[in-house]
Amino acid sequence: MDGTSPLVVNPSEEDQAGDVWRACLDLIKEKVNTQSFKTWFEPIVPLYLRGGRLTVQVPSQFFYDWLEEHYYTIISATIETVLGKDAHLEYSVKTDDPQLEIDYQIPPQGAPRVERRAFPPQPTSFTTLQPQRPADRSAEAFQSFLNARYTFENFIKGDSNQLARAAASAVANNPGGTSFNPLVIYGGTGLGKTHLMHAIGNYAIANGKARRVIYVSSEKFTVEFVESIQRDTANEFAGFYRSMDILIVDDIQFFAGKERTQDHFFHTFNELHQLGKQIVLSSDRPPKELKGLDDRLLSRFQWGLTSDIQPPDLETRIAILRNKSENEGIDLPQDVVEFIATNVTSNIRELEGCLISLMAKASLEGRDITVDLARDVLKVVVGDVKSPLTIETIQRTVCEYFSIPEDLIRAKTRKQEVVNARQIAMYLAKEMTNCSLKTIGLHFGGRDHSTVIHAYQSVEDQMRIDQKYLSNVTQIKRRLQMIGHV
Ligand code: ADP
Ligand code: MG
Repeated sequence: MDGTSPLVVNPSEEDQAGDVWRACLDLIKEKVNTQSFKTWFEPIVPLYLRGGRLTVQVPSQFFYDWLEEHYYTIISATIETVLGKDAHLEYSVKTDDPQLEIDYQIPPQGAPRVERRAFPPQPTSFTTLQPQRPADRSAEAFQSFLNARYTFENFIKGDSNQLARAAASAVANNPGGTSFNPLVIYGGTGLGKTHLMHAIGNYAIANGKARRVIYVSSEKFTVEFVESIQRDTANEFAGFYRSMDILIVDDIQFFAGKERTQDHFFHTFNELHQLGKQIVLSSDRPPKELKGLDDRLLSRFQWGLTSDIQPPDLETRIAILRNKSENEGIDLPQDVVEFIATNVTSNIRELEGCLISLMAKASLEGRDITVDLARDVLKVVVGDVKSPLTIETIQRTVCEYFSIPEDLIRAKTRKQEVVNARQIAMYLAKEMTNCSLKTIGLHFGGRDHSTVIHAYQSVEDQMRIDQKYLSNVTQIKRRLQMIGHV
């Protein structure tokens, strides 16, 4: 290529790059959620393929940093699968100035861009970076497969995860020495199971509570087991796992139906347990609902503690957003925090995803982070966020605000705090929906329309005389306005 214009690329190299990158995308798509895929992978442009070296273009340095920080493992594994062991991925960072783009070397933060430099030995004059392993991944951590980013410190406590977190912390402080052995954490996806399990391992190692800790997914355990049989190394495999102080196995629902693996795991489990070593497991559902799992194994789980993690409540969601944005060095306005926390309710991974997409969009488009921008992002992520308000949404929001169980608002109870919440919900239902008094009454446990009128008047009266009361109603109303059309 020397002597030719650096911009001239053999068309077939471009085609090949496109094909290879499409194959990569197909694999990546299965490993990340749709929204991360759209945000972080669709904008990448394959440039060319030379030897085992695939060069892709990313829109900015910020983008590059995020990919490296968050998707290093996925990307490198994928490239290896598609192109083989010796493959390399190189990034070219797009800039506004095409001249710079050619020789642009990604500068350290804040440093001036590097002058044009000649790279005679290079087959191309795109200066690129190779994916680097983050420096903090020591050999020890790598061996344990613990992700140092998941700690107790950055795990936000809330009612939804309190027991699981407390148990995890007890286990980390005294592995094998509590009655929580095994510790089984279960709950829906994206709620923090994996995070907590890594936190146990990281804490135990950092505080000298355990030396040999291994984190493994049940899928990986299964694959390794099968391979060990094929290679006739089953003894080494067994010996390795049985030498651990803490064995952490994630997502054990994937053991379902794999009888030989289960059998093997059963023996490993027994041995470790007898030696007083700690076992930590997670599952996406309560153990007793795990179909296709050996009863012997299930009964072992009852030796220890089983704890669930529930979806986070509004306050926890807000705390998580605050914490994550602070860690990323972003000052997120309060109304934006509330807007995202009220609209993204299902799980924490999605919450994080929104925040990241929001930061990416703000950064790429050079815009401030506002509720309007957040609305644009959420439209892609959770669909059009504004739909007509329903009485159920009002009930849920009011109950969440006052931290009372939602069914009470429809029940007969006359407890003062419930009556108070019920009246406010009725008032807001009349104010913010087109439902008739009769319909509203029906939604509140079949109450009469005159009860709704009474509630409405009572709320109006109290708002006039009680400043705190007025501010409560106003705040709930504001939350509802963020959620739905009025
Ligand atoms: P699961 O294993 O239950 O599917 P993860 O542990 O992978 O969920 O959590 C998904 C994401 O949400 C991770 O990035 C994790 O750090 C984050 N996360 C979950 N729970 C919390 C929490 N309580 N505080 C802070 N971050 C959390
Ligand atoms: Mg997980």
